[in-house]
Amino acid sequence: MSSPLLRAINITKRFGGIIAVNKMSMEIREGEILGLIGPNGAGKTTLFNCITGFYKPDEGEVYFKGERITGLSPHEICLRGIARTWQKIRPFPGMTVLEAVTVGALLRTKDVEKAVEKARSILEFIEFKKYDRLGKELTLIEHKLVDLARALATEPKLLLLDEVAAGLRPHEMDRLAKILLRIRDEMKITLVIVEHVMRFVMKISERVVVMHQGTKIAEGTPEEVANNPRVIEAYLGTRPI
Ligand code: ATP
Repeated sequence: MSSPLLRAINITKRFGGIIAVNKMSMEIREGEILGLIGPNGAGKTTLFNCITGFYKPDEGEVYFKGERITGLSPHEICLRGIARTWQKIRPFPGMTVLEAVTVGALLRTKDVEKAVEKARSILEFIEFKKYDRLGKELTLIEHKLVDLARALATEPKLLLLDEVAAGLRPHEMDRLAKILLRIRDEMKITLVIVEHVMRFVMKISERVVVMHQGTKIAEGTPEEVANNPRVIEAYLGTRPI
């Protein structure tokens, strides 16, 4: 089997007395759609932040394409090919959609015209037609799609999506799921999805890693983890899996 695209090894991240991520190890395989789930406070977003350089882990190492990237800045990590979207919407009230996506494309070129062209092609790919809308005029799904487009414009090999389906209606989730599958299949981008919406993550993921109290408690196919007693126990009293 080919070596993993990303390896996180024994990652620990503390905030004062809280251990948000505790000796967490996981692998991401090239070309897969991996679901990362776990109850509230399990450490999923903190792990994302350690992988993407927004936090420096207290312990542990991250390797991407065999190269150690632990402690690099978010910019350097993005340049190497890891992009992310955000759990909370990051508004851009005075910018148009095209401008916001162009900012992502400027990571790879200083030529603004080329960056605009790239942004247009990404928006076309995800079938987002309202290029000239201002950020403040967008609905939730539109915001999420623009955030996705902005991440894609940085030309990643690996894309980490943080609660991308949260708050969406069922038909919007279906639209998003189709787009994500095309991103993986046609753009050849590996996807990791942190998500609470089980219907969404279990349907789209080929493999699921479950975190609880900062560490991995299970991994397997969606069916395997949904039937795993440790996973059921971790979720008991929170929300049904
Ligand atoms: P959710 O699904 O609710 O978003 P999560 O699995 O993403 O949760 P994290 O947000 O990573 O979990 O949080 C893990 C733990 O670390 C929680 O106890 C949280 O309160 C704590 N934590 C996260 N970020 C910080 C921070 N910047 N300062 C202090 N504590 C933090």
